[in-house]
Amino acid sequence: MTTVAVVGGGISGLTAAYRLRALLGPDARIVVLEESGRLGGKLRTVPIAGKPVDVGAEAFIVRRPEVTALLAELGLADQVEHPSRARPLIWADGSLHPLPAGTLMGIPANSEALVGLVDAATLARIDAEPATPLHWDRSADVSVAALVGSRFGEQVVRRSVDPLLGGVYSGLSDTAGVRATVPALAVALDGGATSLTDAVRRALPPPSDTPVFGTLRGGYGTLLDALRDASGAEFHDHTTGAGLRRERGRWSVDPVGPVDGVIVALPADRAAALLAEGAPAAAAQAARIPLASSVVVALAMPKTAALPQNSGILVATGEDLAAKAFTLSSRKWPHLADRDVTLARASFGRFGDAALLDADDEQLITLARADLATVTGVTDQPVDAYVQRWHGGLPQYRAGHGEVVAALEAEIAQVDGLEIAGAMLHGVGVPACVAAATTAATRLTERVAG
Ligand SMILES: Cc1cc2nc3c(=O)[nH]c(=O)nc-3n(C[C@H](O)[C@H](O)[C@H](O)COP(=O)(O)OP(=O)(O)OC[C@H]3O[C@@H](n4cnc5c(N)ncnc54)[C@H](O)[C@@H]3O)c2cc1C
Repeated sequence: MTTVAVVGGGISGLTAAYRLRALLGPDARIVVLEESGRLGGKLRTVPIAGKPVDVGAEAFIVRRPEVTALLAELGLADQVEHPSRARPLIWADGSLHPLPAGTLMGIPANSEALVGLVDAATLARIDAEPATPLHWDRSADVSVAALVGSRFGEQVVRRSVDPLLGGVYSGLSDTAGVRATVPALAVALDGGATSLTDAVRRALPPPSDTPVFGTLRGGYGTLLDALRDASGAEFHDHTTGAGLRRERGRWSVDPVGPVDGVIVALPADRAAALLAEGAPAAAAQAARIPLASSVVVALAMPKTAALPQNSGILVATGEDLAAKAFTLSSRKWPHLADRDVTLARASFGRFGDAALLDADDEQLITLARADLATVTGVTDQPVDAYVQRWHGGLPQYRAGHGEVVAALEAEIAQVDGLEIAGAMLHGVGVPACVAAATTAATRLTERVAG
């Protein structure tokens, strides 16, 4: 009988287990090791005011096919909800502004997009940008801050780009590489764009009325349960995968013992630790990918709480606030607007700033309420609240990330019966994790079966 181990029970590990079942058939033994007491990793649905709310990832991009296809396979297509048409705001320079439209990750194609958000000198600089020759090295990578700052100035970086990057990566444009975090921009620049504004114009997707995001009515827990059940795998929670090594031509991982193949579906630092003995060169690459920690505070307030009619508020860097973003969940998601409470989420923590993870729940709830009051004026006492700390929540895709991943995957490819998946590779979003896990399961099956 074929035995394979999947180390890590997040969406990457669960997808890998589900795919392995389909590929290896009903007789294979598939063992999933999960260190914590629950499956899902950064996907977590908890009851707040008696109903399910996501306190990790809350959405997925529907313009990528992977999650939509997976939900259809699992019979969950009818569970998908889309956001309302409410738009987000940006808190910058002590006041609220509409999120600029028609930008690429906050990088504008013209000055008009940022009127009101940045000063007149910055607008004039954006207008003048096409006249200054652009030096773009097709063989290199730079941080988003270096590129945007050098062309448009600091205010565009801090007020328009950082809030968006902070939302996706818990990072800042200083630690975000252009090629991995704004790939369409890199393609336009490689393709000969003559200025940054020209590159953004080339890279912007055509306007479309179809929704960009989806979520699950009952939260991500619905998908986790379905994957667990459909995988027919053995799940071992409170179990740390360790001691990965090659023994007499087979892999062995504790506490499972000898196996025919292993998929490592872990955050970068934990993958590096697990691979250190059996695949040290791969481990060294994974160890180069840093992680940012964050905290989500979910608040349920009385139905009457007068939150603005916006989907969320992103916070510019350098503001006098601890929070980096708020999701006004009851405004963003029509299916949550029906509930008898008003839901909002405050997020804290950017790369290099994990101090808030040590604060206790009460302090974090107090901080979330204070910051929400500053930006919206809403002071309602929550009827329920939940604090979720995400230690090492998101990998940072720094300049040169693609090369690190290519080297990591090249090392793994040289080793028979070992594959890797997870948010550190080709995208932190759930669709990208599903794609990488599918690739890992397919490759492992080819090795194990062939
Ligand atoms: C706050 C937050 C909000 C996000 N929002 C979105 C969003 O809206 N949309 C979106 O698409 N993406 C979002 N993301 C990103 C996305 O959720 C993650 O990138 C993705 O869920 C990562 O999945 P994974 O399985 O690769 O890793 P993880 O979820 O980290 O799973 C790894 C698992 O491995 C376990 N583990 C660690 N070490 C060991 C070991 N040695 N042995 C066994 N088990 C181990 C961990 O306990 C964990 O359960 C968000 C992330 C965060 C943190």
